[in-house]
Amino acid sequence: MAGLAAAARARELGAEPLVLEKGDRAGGSMLLSSCVIWRYRSLEAFQEECPDGDPGLQRVIVEQLDGAIDWLESLGAPVVDHGTGNPRTVGKRFDPAGLMQTLVRVIGDSSVRLSERGQTRLIKANILSTGGFPVRLARRRRLLLRANPWSDGDGLDLATKRGAETAGDLDEFYGRALPAGVHVDEEDYVRLSQLYGHFAEVISEDGTERFEGDPGWSETALVQAIARWPGGRAWYRVHEDKLGERIRERTVREIIEAARGAGGTVRDEPPYTSVLVQASVTQTLGGIHIDERARVLGVEGLYAAGADVGGISGGGYSSGLAAALVFGRIAAETALS
Ligand SMILES: Cc1cc2nc3c(=O)[nH]c(=O)nc-3n(C[C@H](O)[C@H](O)[C@H](O)COP(=O)(O)OP(=O)(O)OC[C@H]3O[C@@H](n4cnc5c(N)ncnc54)[C@H](O)[C@@H]3O)c2cc1C
Repeated sequence: MAGLAAAARARELGAEPLVLEKGDRAGGSMLLSSCVIWRYRSLEAFQEECPDGDPGLQRVIVEQLDGAIDWLESLGAPVVDHGTGNPRTVGKRFDPAGLMQTLVRVIGDSSVRLSERGQTRLIKANILSTGGFPVRLARRRRLLLRANPWSDGDGLDLATKRGAETAGDLDEFYGRALPAGVHVDEEDYVRLSQLYGHFAEVISEDGTERFEGDPGWSETALVQAIARWPGGRAWYRVHEDKLGERIRERTVREIIEAARGAGGTVRDEPPYTSVLVQASVTQTLGGIHIDERARVLGVEGLYAAGADVGGISGGGYSSGLAAALVFGRIAAETALS
């Protein structure tokens, strides 16, 4: 997302951008996402939700996201919902494929080169936007991956080799609980996410751990706790009284049935239903340290945006797409100024 936003903005400013994409398609994790691009209502709320994040970078997102969303719409990106459905946040939901196609059209098809590794060529200005390192983190911690398969930390490695500083906790991530022991195809990442931990008793698979804290509305805290338990797995044990509760457009029962239908381990022990889940990594939260103009601290002429950047959502969760959009645009503007 960040690279496409940066290149589209650069094209608009009269430059000739080149996007070097490692994967065999454009769009990265954005294309797999629910594509709700959102922000907290105020900087104070952002800081409360993400207390370890950099307030300077958070402020830029709060101030610039609405304009950046208007810009996407002005380019023709299709909006599928003009709200987020979450009273804590404001933003819009886009059609991910339509958004990707819109940005590629603005950039110019021939300027988006697939199956190329970005860092192999240094042109006038390099904007790192390789999507953080969820692949590496999931591999190292033996968790499931819930992101594109190419974001393996190449941007972070390149920047730190050149002397860049890092920001945030490199072990912190945003993710979801998925049915354990099941191969989840990437088109099912959203549908099979088990997002009802706050209606469940959460116990480690071996029964030695129990989650007693606040899962947080996004359940980021819960997923990170599960990730530290044996096998990164847990049982979500739900009383029948809670099966009718709604999470967005579905009930808890429907989400559990989706897990069962996919071959997940579901135990019926009336009045309880228990689902075995495993933590998955969607996005790393630590990464490259940038300033408010997307300049990589410690490396002249290098810029970064999106999940390659660390220290925005520390201690909580915020929209990765919003950060990618806002700092992608800023990186292009700064590089061309
Ligand atoms: C299932 C799911 C649902 C989500 N829902 C939401 C949501 O509703 N709202 C939200 O805000 N966020 C959501 N996210 C998170 C969101 O997708 C990310 O925060 C966002 O895509 C990050 O943008 P990015 O540009 O940093 O990374 P990406 O969009 O992943 O783009 C990074 C790109 O870099 C490429 N790349 C990697 N290494 C190299 C290299 N060496 N050279 C060249 N290219 C390279 C990758 O192939 C990829 O195309 C969701 C994610 C998933 C997986």
